[in-house]
Order: sequence, then C-alpha cells, then structure tokens
Amino acid sequence: MNLILLGPPGAGKGTQARFLVEERGMVQLSTGDMLRAAKDSGTEMGQIVADVMARGALVTDEIVIGLIREQLETVKASGFIFDGFPRTLAQADALSDLLAEKGQTLDAVIAMEVDDEALVARITARATCAGCGEVYNDNTKPIPADGKCTKCGAGNKFTRRADDNEEALRTRLMEYYKKTSPLIGYYYAKGQLSTIDGLGDMNEVKAAIAAVLAD
Ligand code: AMP
Repeated sequence: MNLILLGPPGAGKGTQARFLVEERGMVQLSTGDMLRAAKDSGTEMGQIVADVMARGALVTDEIVIGLIREQLETVKASGFIFDGFPRTLAQADALSDLLAEKGQTLDAVIAMEVDDEALVARITARATCAGCGEVYNDNTKPIPADGKCTKCGAGNKFTRRADDNEEALRTRLMEYYKKTSPLIGYYYAKGQLSTIDGLGDMNEVKAAIAAVLAD
C-alpha cells in the first residue's frame, strides 16, 4: 500500500505519517526531512537548498525527484507514505513513472483540508522534540513544564523550524496554492483522490484516514 498525504504546510501530514509508521509499519518518505538532513550535514546539495528552504520556496524538481528515486531504489517496505512529495505536477508524473518502474501502484491520495487561518496559527506555535520528533503546539499541546518529552521521556531539547515564521510561511502558502494545489484536480481526475477534514483533533483525523484506507 503506497499513499500520498497531500495538504498545505501545517495540515498535519507529518503527524499523521508518524501514526501510520507506528501502527502499520509503513515507511515515511518526507522530502522536507531529507532536505533538512542534507542541510544539517552540510552536503553540497544541503548548501544549495538551504537558502531556498529558508525562504519557503520550492527546491527544484530534479533534486527532490532524485531523493525519492534513491529511497525507492534502496528501501524495502510494505508501503510508503509520501509526505510533502509530490508538490508539483512534474513531481507527480515522475512518481507515477518511478512506481511503475518498480511494478508498484499508488493506492490512495489523501487530501487534508485545513483553512488558512488555522494553518498560520498551528505553524507559528509549533515546536518539535529534537530527540524523537514529537510535535508540540504552544496553544493545544504545550511543551511539558518539566521540559521532558511525553513521548520519548528523554528529550529535553525542543526546536522550532527556521521556516516556521510568518514571512517564510506566506511564501510556503503561495507556493502551495500556485504549484501544489493543482495536484488535487490531477489526482481527482485519475480517480485516486480522497478528501478529509484535517482541522479536527489529531485522533479524529487519524480515524478519517483509517476509514479511507479501509475502503
Ligand atoms: P516540509 O517539511 O514538507 O514543509 O518542507 C520544507 C521545505 O523543503 C519546503 O518549504 C521546500 O522548501 C522544501 N521541500 C520539501 N519537499 C519538497 C518538494 N517535494 N518539492 C520542492 N521543495 C520541497
């Protein structure tokens, strides 16, 4: 089972992908995580993408398609969750070709709908445990008072993404509407799209995704 989680920044794609990894043993392929890792380890590619990411713009199709190709060639999994990929029509076509080459199919595309005001509120309040990646929110799920992550217990460092600021977020939203939102029509026309309400509590969203996958 291979699926795409599609939605604007802050829709909760990463959080839901983590649930699917924990509960179904699927493998999450987040191009954002891969690019951040490349940036942090100072590789040549990381240096090229750092400024683009800080601004909230999209990295070139060539780079992200290359990252996904490499993962599909090297990682064995019962299913992949594509999180933050594809983000353009060219990436969507490339994914379809890559899966076909591997004799695999795309089984579901789940569009997570969240209104823009909620996205801005979520993103500017978000913090992540540096140890395990658990996501916190200043308003709805604050960092525990004792400074220890409720998930891994050991984490005591919480980070905020450099591009989770209002200016970069404006660019990220604009990129989403200009380049990524056409994928909703693309997958609808292919008969692969399911749409869920991404605004609710994370367990409600999780249940909505489970219902789509059970179909
Ligand atoms: P994310 O963690 O998915 O929000 O991605 C963070 C940033 O990485 C984005 O704002 C882009 O700069 C870059 N990025 C991640 N995935 C892609 C992609 N599929 N295509 C282009 N740029 C991407």
